[in-house]
Amino acid sequence: MSEEMSPGPTADDLALGRQMHGWMGDLFPIMRALTGPGVRQTMAYLQTLLPGLEIHEVPSGTQVFDWTVPDEWSINAAWLEDTEGRRLIDLADNTLHVVGYAEPVDRVISREDLEPHLYSLPEQPDAIPYVTSFYQRHWGFCLTERQHQALGPGPFRAVIQSRLEPGSLSVADLVIPGQSADEVLLSTYTCHPGLANDNLSGVVVATALARWLSALPERRYTYRVVFLPETIGAIAYLARHLDHLKARVRAGYTLTCLGDERGYAFLPSRHGDTLADRAARLVLAERPGGFVEHSFLERGSDERQYCSPGVDLPVASVMRTKYGCYPEYHTSLDDLTLVTPEGLAGGFAALRDCLQVIEANSRFRTAFPCEPQFGKRGMYPSLSRTGSAVPMQAWLNVWSHCDGAHDLIDLVRVCQLPFAEVARIVEIYRAAGIIEDLGPGIAP
Ligand code: ZN
Repeated sequence: MSEEMSPGPTADDLALGRQMHGWMGDLFPIMRALTGPGVRQTMAYLQTLLPGLEIHEVPSGTQVFDWTVPDEWSINAAWLEDTEGRRLIDLADNTLHVVGYAEPVDRVISREDLEPHLYSLPEQPDAIPYVTSFYQRHWGFCLTERQHQALGPGPFRAVIQSRLEPGSLSVADLVIPGQSADEVLLSTYTCHPGLANDNLSGVVVATALARWLSALPERRYTYRVVFLPETIGAIAYLARHLDHLKARVRAGYTLTCLGDERGYAFLPSRHGDTLADRAARLVLAERPGGFVEHSFLERGSDERQYCSPGVDLPVASVMRTKYGCYPEYHTSLDDLTLVTPEGLAGGFAALRDCLQVIEANSRFRTAFPCEPQFGKRGMYPSLSRTGSAVPMQAWLNVWSHCDGAHDLIDLVRVCQLPFAEVARIVEIYRAAGIIEDLGPGIAP
């Protein structure tokens, strides 16, 4: 990768942000859950953007480590009506109005008996909460507190036209080959219905990254981009690919919450100092305003599986505002106004820059003892009037840490220079033959 890296989104990124926001607008109304036709419809849409994307079906009942792939869920309609047949709550108005994986029901019910099946947020009276019951048979409606207060005495008729029956769980992956069989994993989840930051933002940023990676003239690493339902999907994917992923993955990110404009956040891998962690800290530290670093103890997405003992993949999370840390989280307020083209552009640029650091990162060693005679190579004058704000001492600092032990990320830290500057200096040294590229030096 030779593109000049600069912190933050460019004008092109902003145009891409508008495109990603358009994809989100198409995907937002689809009724997604862990499984079912909404997930397949979502993946089919992604296939139009990523022609190499492969969809794999894991049958219900399949044992994946300690879990069993659940029955497939589908829903045609759901509503709550009063005795006059007026629909008070209707799934057609918002995909959050029914508890995810709700079992079918059609009964007349008193207000008192209905109450345990209603979910609202007294603290956020205009928000519909996102509620699921994937592994326990249950039914219910989610509504705003204002709708809840206005329901009246009843009785009501509760109708949920859903089906829970053996089918399959859909996971999709795209492998973009590079010069090395070593892989970088990008994972995002497709199980959330009409929720924008968590996590259609991750879905569209993953899609945009895959398109960007595919269009690069060359890649050092092979990239594996996966779209799957959170938790059970990651577990099912690991059950099928664990040995390969353990042998090949050198860095990875879970892509979640990448679309608001409030800032940047980072959640490290369990190990905390892998290539993915180091690249992310470097990139995010160069963002204007910096970033919030969360603890692995605050994890909540598929790094729970990727970083679990026995799996131990080097997977971290680069986010805008982290799940659980913004008031709209898991409510109908997490919509297409919270996520903006600018926010998505920033999320994309942060991840793209992490991948550029990973691609460029190598250990370097000086080709001979003592300082090179730059003047002999015609480099001293060019270094002196390079136009760079970096003084000669900085150039020598970079050179003097090319000891075979420091990699590019270390050089940025030790020399206290921007990544783009260090990468440029190292490339000039390498082209002049005064340092050798020892490769990334990541233990398998
Ligand atoms: Zn979520």
